[in-house]
Amino acid sequence: MDEFEIIQRFFARDQHADGVSVGVGDDGAVLTPSAGKNLVAVVDTLIEGRHFLSSMSPADIGWRAVAVNLSDIAAMGAVPRWMTLAVTLGDPDEHWLESFAQGLYDAATASGVSLVGGDTTQGEPAVVTVQVLGEVEHDAELTRSGAQPGDGVFVSGNPGDAAAGLALLMADTAASGALVERFCRPQPRLQLGRELSPFATACIDVSDGLAGDLQKLITASGVGAEVVLESLPVSDALTDFAGDDAQEFALQGGDDYELCFSAPEGETDAVLAAAARCGTPVTRIGTVTAGNDLLFRRDGETVTVDTAGYTHFNPES
Ligand code: ADP
Ligand code: MG
Repeated sequence: MDEFEIIQRFFARDQHADGVSVGVGDDGAVLTPSAGKNLVAVVDTLIEGRHFLSSMSPADIGWRAVAVNLSDIAAMGAVPRWMTLAVTLGDPDEHWLESFAQGLYDAATASGVSLVGGDTTQGEPAVVTVQVLGEVEHDAELTRSGAQPGDGVFVSGNPGDAAAGLALLMADTAASGALVERFCRPQPRLQLGRELSPFATACIDVSDGLAGDLQKLITASGVGAEVVLESLPVSDALTDFAGDDAQEFALQGGDDYELCFSAPEGETDAVLAAAARCGTPVTRIGTVTAGNDLLFRRDGETVTVDTAGYTHFNPES
């Protein structure tokens, strides 16, 4: 199969998608944004051996390449519309490509995104880059920079589960279960991002660990925060897996693709109602403070937590 056959067979499904007047096959895609909306552009690269394991199913790799971008779109409070795909592959066989494309289109279709162009090259290790274009109403985007002292700090889902799933897969490539599923099939919180946009003052998606990503949010906002460790939404599955280290996974584990955000105290009920409409659990974990320190409290005492972000976990270490 040469480059053009690969493109035609696997990556040319969305030829008549909404808002696409020229798609795959020409020198560039021509897209029609909705009247009056602003465009939001995000891009993320996955490198074999670093962002995904070669042992992962190609469908999971395809899903992930799209989902990590959709998570950024969610954190902006935007609606995703189109994507481009740049792939560098060693010697792909058709089963690999079939499965990869299936995972990619599954994630895209579930969110109303069409594939409108890309680039296909040969090389190693495998590298997959997806760019997503989304739309947001003028001045309605959620950014990292609006948190105010007194706001509540919230997180969706159960941070740490994905890192535990990765640890399980690194110990046994055939591992399965809820934690592994959280790593292999991240669920971008698109509806939550949309629903939060009237209330949240700042938002970030949690890709590199909750502590490190909250640090980025408060730095961008020029504020501090206090997190109450007892309030972290640690899942039962994570507690079973990690025991005393569960809180550490929840704070430091990467790959969750949950949303961490701030909202005024008076909007707490609105935030929880928005979360309920989305069917996504949201937990208040702390408070935004004046100053610029990120403090963590356990039993009322301040404890030190590494906020450097993203580490791979090994249950034996
Ligand atoms: P050019 O030579 O103009 O860069 P290419 O030959 O690289 O174009 O690509 C041909 C067409 O196929 C273009 O429309 C491009 O956007 C599309 N394309 C290439 N690779 C992919 C891919 N992996 N997924 C989707 N579209 C792709
Ligand atoms: Mg060209």
